[in-house]
Order: sequence, then structure tokens, then C-alpha cells
Amino acid sequence: MDDLLSRTRAAVWHPCTQMKQLESAPPLAIARGEGPWLIDTDGRRYLDAISSWWVNLFGHCNPRISAAITEQLGRIEHVMLAGATHAPVVELSERLASLTGLGHAFYGSDGASATEIALKMSTHFWRNSGHPEKNGFISLKNAYHGETVGALSVTDIPLFKHTYAPLLRHSAQMPTPDVRLAEPGESAEAFALRCADALESHLAEHADTTAAFIVEPLVQGAAGMAIYHPVYLSRARELCTRYGVHLIADEIAVGFGRTGTMFACEQAAIRPDFICLSKGLTGGYLPLSAVLTTDHIYAAFYDDATARGFLHSHSYTGNPLACRAALAVLDIFEQDGVVAANRAKSERFTVVMEPLRDHPRVRHFRHLGMIWAFDVTRATPDFALRFSQSALTQGVLLRPIGNTVYCMPPYVVDGMEMDRTVAAMLHGLAASTDRGRGSMADGGSEKLP
Ligand SMILES: *Cc1c(COP(=O)(O)O)cnc(C)c1O
Repeated sequence: MDDLLSRTRAAVWHPCTQMKQLESAPPLAIARGEGPWLIDTDGRRYLDAISSWWVNLFGHCNPRISAAITEQLGRIEHVMLAGATHAPVVELSERLASLTGLGHAFYGSDGASATEIALKMSTHFWRNSGHPEKNGFISLKNAYHGETVGALSVTDIPLFKHTYAPLLRHSAQMPTPDVRLAEPGESAEAFALRCADALESHLAEHADTTAAFIVEPLVQGAAGMAIYHPVYLSRARELCTRYGVHLIADEIAVGFGRTGTMFACEQAAIRPDFICLSKGLTGGYLPLSAVLTTDHIYAAFYDDATARGFLHSHSYTGNPLACRAALAVLDIFEQDGVVAANRAKSERFTVVMEPLRDHPRVRHFRHLGMIWAFDVTRATPDFALRFSQSALTQGVLLRPIGNTVYCMPPYVVDGMEMDRTVAAMLHGLAASTDRGRGSMADGGSEKLP
């Protein structure tokens, strides 16, 4: 294991990481996975309470998903999707269309590429429709839509964005309906409507030069699990329609049951013009993303002129193994009634979380579907790192965002595993006060209560 750690530091540039920090906080050396558990090269087990960056839905090494991929491996692993097609991509596109009410699935390999695809399609639509001046984008304050140059232009997280500002195209950010920002006594709904008024003012002035409004429905994940009232989405839908601006729903994090419905947009009863999917799409198995859109938008590209077509591609577009994994995920949703089962689980787990809601350092305890989050007061600058290291000593993998602690477990976790998560969170809170500094040093020796 030590060998792997020194080799990873020498050979691998880890994502979203100041590599120097790996000196004091080495990465987990994972040998295998089993349901919601990760097992390191020394046999220690960690509960993956954040679903490996929000991608895993049905556990690691899920036999049904593994079998589907293995079966596909014996047929065809990959073929380019220009000038060829195959059953997995056709079936997946049909099923995603019936689930989303949108169609003509276009595939990429990860979330950021889905954002790029939606942004390009939207402006290309306006260009094909005789409005090349409609090429601006708007997003929400604190939005996250990925980190490639185009996606970063509509992302609004300073830590990720600021350094690359010279590369980025300007986009406008609308006030976020994040309910934590409501005035004292103001309801989530009233606040969301007030934010929608600001969106309307912007559209009234800039719709002529705006292609699309891109939004994370119901939960702004990377902002720190900022939850808002669905009425914002219904108003945004009305306004985008009225002002002739596309609505892009970035369901990369919230899609596939995470917020309690298959897609978060369902809770506002809206249909966006584009939907971006990734992360849970393959159950956390293989990189795949998809963008689906309306027949109306699709029709503007359908022409004898080549250049009116959407000439975008990635080498692995529509990879058959990834599509098979996604089909197995959809089968599990259907066969196991996952959305309904999660509803019951979500209620039970919220009860398990009660001790956190009542903890004196916890503010804004919030919950939606299979997401729980809270903010921690008196957090030191190194809070996130200390908290997550403390949780690891309790066998739970958690990575706070700033002073926000959240849990976003694979749907296969059980009550005991949630108990363990809560215990690790309480331990992390105790260990991350100044008094707790000493106890961090005993890492690994503490037992669960
Ligand atoms: C993770 C995420 C993305 C980017 O996906 P990657 O696969 O990391 O490129 C985009 N939008 C949202 C809302 C996300 O949570």
C-alpha cells in the first residue's frame, strides 16, 4: 500500500487536488468494492457515503450491471457512432426518450461534455433559425455545470473559475433561489418567486442576445447542496417560453432518482428544452453522458446542408459497454421499483439523521430525496479536510464542501450503514473543533459507539 501511495504521487495527477496535500492526507488505496463499501489494499472498509462523487447508485460491483457489461463485452466493445449504430445505443435512446419526454439522444463521455453539447446545440439552433445574435448564456449564482472551458463559462464557483477567467466567455448569473438566502420569515416559495422576478427583468432586457438559461434543477450540488423550491423552475419555464430562450436542465447530479423523483424537473411538472444526463446514468460504472432535446429543436438541424447539422463528436460517443451499463441501471429502476422504495428509505434515514439536526453546531439541516446536508458553524479553514479524515477513522468516506457536510449514499445503503454515517458525522463534528485537534492524531484507533 505504501508503495502504491508513493507511486500514485509520482505518476498520477489527481483531480481537484493540491498534490502537496497528499503528503499529509494520502489518498485511499482501493483494492475493491462491495455494495456501498470500498475496501483498501490493507482490507480496511469505508462506507462510500458520497457515492464516489455522486455517480454510484446501486453499489460497487453490482452483479446485475457487471453481468450486462460482461455480456456486451462478448459482442462488441466499441464502434464509432458516425456511420454505424448498435442495439445498446438505440435501446438506451428509446428508453431515455420515454422517461424524459425529450428525444434524439446525443452522447458524450462525461458531464462537462454534455453541458458543452447543450450550449452548442442551443446557439446552433438559433443560428439555423436566423438569429445568430442569440448566443449568450445565463446561469444561476453559484452554479456548477462542469469544468471544461465552455462549461466553466456558465459555472460560478470562484475556486474553480477565477484562475481561468481569461479563457472564458462572459455569461450572466441570476440570483440563486437557494433557500438559505431567504429573508428571515420569508418562505422558500416566496423567495424563489422573488428570484424569478430578477430572472424576468434580465430576460426582458437581454432575451434578444440570449440563447439559453442553464440550471441545476432543485439542488445546486457543488454550491454545497443548495436546495430551492420547485416553483422557481415552473416560473423559469414560463419565462423562458415567453421570452424565447431555451431552458437547459442540467440533471447530471440530480437525475436518476436522487431528489426523490426519476428526474428533478418532474417536481415542477416542467419539460425543459434540453436535458443533460451523466453521473448516475451508468450507475457509476462507465463514463457516459447524454443530451436530449425537443423535436422542434432537432428539426432546425435536419436539412440537405451539411453545415446545418450538429457536427460535434467524441471518439467514444455512444460506447456500447457504457450504454449496456445504463440499460442495466434502467432495468433495476423498473424491476425493483427504486423510486418508490427510495421514498420510504429517505423518510427512515431522515429520522436516523435527527441527532445532527439538533446538534448545536449544525445550521440549515436540509434534505431532499437521497441527499442530506447541513452547514457547520465555527468551521476552521481546514474544516473539510479534518472532518473527512476524522470520518475515515470511523470507516466512512465523506468530503464536505467548504463548511457543508453532506451525505449522498448509493441507494443500496441500509439503516445500519446510515447509523454509522451519522456516528461518523458526529465524530467529525467533535474532532473538528479546536478542542478536538488532539484526537485527530489518534486516527484509526477509535471504535464506533
Ligand atoms: C458533476 C457535474 C457536472 C460535470 O460532470 P463531469 O462528469 O464531472 O464532467 C456538470 N453539472 C453538474 C450539475 C454536476 O454535478
